[in-house]
Amino acid sequence: MRRFVCKRCGACCQGESTVSLTEEDVLNIANYLGLSVENFLKEYTIKKGENRLEMRVVNNHCIFFDEKENLCLIHPVKPKPCKDWPFPRAIWENEENFNIIKESCPALSEFSYKDLLSLNMFKSS
Ligand code: SF4
Ligand code: SF4
Repeated sequence: MRRFVCKRCGACCQGESTVSLTEEDVLNIANYLGLSVENFLKEYTIKKGENRLEMRVVNNHCIFFDEKENLCLIHPVKPKPCKDWPFPRAIWENEENFNIIKESCPALSEFSYKDLLSLNMFKSS
């Protein structure tokens, strides 16, 4: 039986914006990088509007995306939306959401909504 296997294409780390950071993310990532919160915020984040804080984008990808290896440089402490992807809560809500999300993930595009609901894609072969 097929199971979901990330293709490590890096598509989910690319684009003009990144995910929003929580206070806990800031503390965890700064600590992981051995930086003060102040320096982490200055070097690696950008404010969007009043309340939103995001990781910076460099060369059209998240600043923590390693272009050579197609890897996340902060994998153990990456924000929850990154950990959840491509299975955010919304994907379980309806087929329309599933179809939108799968457009952004080559590995997910190999599966149907029925596969998702039957959880076949999480079982090992
Ligand atoms: S934190 Fe890691 S997984 Fe999340 S967008 Fe940045 S590089 Fe990608
Ligand atoms: S878009 Fe999908 S296949 Fe590509 S790296 Fe992200 S989770 Fe993996």
